[in-house]
Amino acid sequence: MKTRDDIVKLYGRHLSASAARLAEHAGLPVEVRSEGARVWDEEGREYLDCGGYGTFFLGHRHPAVVAALHAQLDRHPLATRTLLSGELAEAAARLTGIAPHGLDHVYFATTGAEAVETALKLARAAGRRRIVSMRGGFHGKTLGALSVTDRPVFQQPFRPLLPDVTTVPYGDAGALAEELAANPARACVIVEPVQGEGGVVVPPEGYLADVARECRRAGAFLVVDEIQTGTGRLGGTWWACDREGVSPDLLLAGKSLGGGCVAVSAVLGTAEAFRPLDRNARLHTSTFAGSPLAMAAVTATLDAVENELLLERAEHLGGLLLDGLRAASGHPAVRDVRGRGLLLGVELDTPARAGALVSALLARGVITASTLSADRVVRFTPPAVLTDGDADRIRAAFKDSIGTL
Ligand code: PLP
Repeated sequence: MKTRDDIVKLYGRHLSASAARLAEHAGLPVEVRSEGARVWDEEGREYLDCGGYGTFFLGHRHPAVVAALHAQLDRHPLATRTLLSGELAEAAARLTGIAPHGLDHVYFATTGAEAVETALKLARAAGRRRIVSMRGGFHGKTLGALSVTDRPVFQQPFRPLLPDVTTVPYGDAGALAEELAANPARACVIVEPVQGEGGVVVPPEGYLADVARECRRAGAFLVVDEIQTGTGRLGGTWWACDREGVSPDLLLAGKSLGGGCVAVSAVLGTAEAFRPLDRNARLHTSTFAGSPLAMAAVTATLDAVENELLLERAEHLGGLLLDGLRAASGHPAVRDVRGRGLLLGVELDTPARAGALVSALLARGVITASTLSADRVVRFTPPAVLTDGDADRIRAAFKDSIGTL
């Protein structure tokens, strides 16, 4: 077993000098074990996990997902892809069964960025050469996804990116309408229901429905990126689209879709949007996409969320945590506490203060993450398997941590 210092050295030598420096500077421990809402480090210290960038809605190693994965591993983990896969067909039926109205087709992929690439290709195939994305939006870091991710520091070294991408202010359906009207070329619009990486930015109520209406009016192709917000994260419903009665051309899922055990993403779409793949399934493929192992995780995950009433639980816990964090945030450095369901953000006055808060929480046994794009915002994405007692522990740790700023 390697020591923490060995691991930091190996990071520096073989992975990234900057990642090693950061680990050294922040005194980051090594995570070695997990269960439910908890993670343990190499010295046996326990943490409540509110990090993971939205992946652990079911927590870690959910028993139903682990059992399904064990059974699948023992039977047939990866497919030849020459024959048929029952697991793929079953997961497709299960996922489209909970999708917004009309989204009865699905393409499974592995990462969120790959789902975004697929969506951009389907928009191109539907004749949409122009893309409208949102200021502060995040959709991943592969070349196409990066082109619609509004973060110049990540984009700059890799230019030129995709052409004909325009960004408009997030949360302002009027600005989108103006952009769509000003340019006659029919567009693809890509939007997050709540911006996660952008700093947990919650748009005005009804924004998504307004965006959908403007897209319909302009004949634009609408892609709703629910990679972070979907499969229950915002509480109450499977998708943010459900809250506002929106049925986009494509809806993207990922992160918690694999139950916190497997990397899997999905593009859900209308028959019309999927016509190119319907005609020729080989047009867009990937070796590991839709593997039996990933599909077993998807089906078990959706069953677990439903059986354990976790959509309702996420709504309850989200309210509890938002109230708790707000009540404990009496400090001049705290600019805002916001969020929806189990996607919560605390905005500080400076990035340094946000970093200090992440460290103070870690020292008190709570894992969080500062957002990539808005580094003044500390993000909490706790699992829905948290107990009310755990939620209170998080609130107490936050109160103590704020006191150290
Ligand atoms: N889209 C959204 C909304 C995301 O939050 C992310 C990741 O944070 C992605 C896409 C990219 O997903 P991945 O990191 O799995 O490629």
